Amino acid sequence: MKTSVRPRLLNGETGDPALLVTLRWQGRSLLVDLGRIDRTPGSVLLRVEAVFVSHAHMDHFMGFDQLLRLFLARDLTLRLYGPVGIADHVQGKLAGYTWNLTDEYGFAIEVTEIAPTEMQSWRFAACRRFARERLGDPRPFRGVVVDDAIFTVEAALLDHKVVSIAYSVRERLHLNVRRDALAASALVPGAWLNRLKAAVRADAPEDTPIEVAPGDRRPLRQLRDDLLIVTPGQKVAYVVDVLFSAANAAKIVRLARGADVFFCEAPFLEEDLEQATRRYHLTAGQAGALARAAGARRLHVFHFSPRYEGRYGDIVTEAQAEFSGSMVRYGELDARSQVVP
Ligand SMILES: [Zn+2]
Ligand SMILES: [Zn+2]
Repeated sequence: MKTSVRPRLLNGETGDPALLVTLRWQGRSLLVDLGRIDRTPGSVLLRVEAVFVSHAHMDHFMGFDQLLRLFLARDLTLRLYGPVGIADHVQGKLAGYTWNLTDEYGFAIEVTEIAPTEMQSWRFAACRRFARERLGDPRPFRGVVVDDAIFTVEAALLDHKVVSIAYSVRERLHLNVRRDALAASALVPGAWLNRLKAAVRADAPEDTPIEVAPGDRRPLRQLRDDLLIVTPGQKVAYVVDVLFSAANAAKIVRLARGADVFFCEAPFLEEDLEQATRRYHLTAGQAGALARAAGARRLHVFHFSPRYEGRYGDIVTEAQAEFSGSMVRYGELDARSQVVP
């Protein structure tokens, strides 16, 4: 199966957390966490349409300024999600600069705070000197943060002595066109193929008419069955900076269930379990156990503490011992190869 959701840790396993999730055939990207991102080309970052921040500890949020600098002159709205308080952090960052020459700019940041049962959005527009404006009333939150035609993003609020949010990105359905069948059908490829895919993803009724040529309408079911290979979408889960507790574990397992790739923090080895617990972080063994419980297909541990420099392979080995699926080995993806424009 061709992968259409490509996740890449921009700073590898040892640098600041920042996971770029690219929706390959859409030319769209999401960024999960916002540690330093200055080693990633602007052309890659400019495709980011939404950023999902776990919490505002510095290693997860200091890339905000870099992203702002890059997007400032763009005529678009960047969406940013995070725990309650993230709008204050954004406001604080923006207050650090002078904005007397941006009145003509079209750029804005839309910040959504995710609370246990509701979400509230705020807008900061360059043309209004980034004054904070409330966007509507709170809306209910039941796990789903973004419900897009192509993908959904879910969130789980975890305990890291502050709230740290874990996210999953799931492609709705993976749709491939059967080129041979399309050629044999004598239909001319065109925008109708995208309309067909959108209707299938939206779970439209079987008899929905799709216009394949002027005046030629055919039922969705026939076109789908003849021309598309439909497989379940891929899922990427991301968990970082959390205490290993029963409540956190239950939420993590639910969020990461069946993930194709599970990115899980593993800052500590079991030999430093006490330190890990005191700092509200996971060990590699705990990461492996969570991946096993979630039935993840592949585990990628990251956010290694520099105290293990020279022993990073041990972290992966310890996680692997608890997890029976496949692992991304340390060094398998070096930082450079992960940044594909
Ligand atoms: Zn933290
Ligand atoms: Zn951290």
